[in-house]
Amino acid sequence: MKTADFQGLGPLNAVVRAPRDDWQWHLANAIRDVRDLGRALGLALEEVPTDFPLLVPRPYLARIEHGRRDDPLLRQVLPLAAENEAVPGYVADPLAEQPQATGALRKYRGRVLAVTTGACAINCRYCFRRHFPYSDRRLSRADWDALLDDIAADPATQELILSGGDPLVLPDRTLARILERAAGIPHLRSLRIHTRLPVVIPQRVTPRLVELLKAFPRPVTLVLHVNHPREVDSGVAEALAPLRGRVNLLNQGVLLAGVNDEVETLEALSWRLHEIGVMPYYLHLLDRVAGAAHFDTGEAKGRALIEALRGRLPGYLVPRLATEQPGEPSKTVLA
Ligand code: SF4
Repeated sequence: MKTADFQGLGPLNAVVRAPRDDWQWHLANAIRDVRDLGRALGLALEEVPTDFPLLVPRPYLARIEHGRRDDPLLRQVLPLAAENEAVPGYVADPLAEQPQATGALRKYRGRVLAVTTGACAINCRYCFRRHFPYSDRRLSRADWDALLDDIAADPATQELILSGGDPLVLPDRTLARILERAAGIPHLRSLRIHTRLPVVIPQRVTPRLVELLKAFPRPVTLVLHVNHPREVDSGVAEALAPLRGRVNLLNQGVLLAGVNDEVETLEALSWRLHEIGVMPYYLHLLDRVAGAAHFDTGEAKGRALIEALRGRLPGYLVPRLATEQPGEPSKTVLA
């Protein structure tokens, strides 16, 4: 399989000279122009007006098959005209979170979910937060101090969940400060980080980050977001290797039409995750966000796929089909 072609592409050639281990370089130099994306992939891609910009980091781009318009990785990042069609039932804020665009969400008993930043390393077209007006907002140092003071004062809080955007967009020194303070809160029993960064820019798993996560004195869970087996290349496997056995590695994927809605794909994804020490945990139904209706498979298909997976995989590799409803105290497991 030929993947993205960087030869003769002017600025895109920078990838060849890129400081390959510098994740911040990759964040800053992600592909933002559909013409650059098309040139890299040997495709004539049309520009589509959208308020959710194209953003594709180069390590992820390198896994997209050259010349293949229906590549499942490309489908996750390429703006399509279908996004601009209004579809009844698909709304800007399907989980009714927007008033709290950054800050702490106390959605679940005993757990505080910190929306640390609105920034991401990739813009997934199906993202339920795609209309949040927060792309450059992040919690300030004072916000963090106040949030951690609140957690320290509330013995009922047992788990701190870092979400976003993507919390691993934060530099290691900021994470170190947060983790150090959290480690000193005796009733906090668990730290969870929801991130897609180690998948889309594996260089993000720096030795310092590994050290920080390993040093946290309570169990740490990294919830990754992988939807297709080809998203896990050797770079991702190598990046996660130092965390295996020290950090719980789980995956939450999203069921997406044209990406992973075939049983063979989901089966291959579970095996690939297993090979790299990641437990397939949840498969989410699409949140009905405006602009993403073309990714919806419907619940019945999700249930049928899980049933089919049960006939093909050991039980521990079958993810739970889940959905989230606004105002509900937990996810709803459907199958
Ligand atoms: S990485 Fe997660 S939060 Fe960011 S755009 Fe993708 S799905 Fe949304």
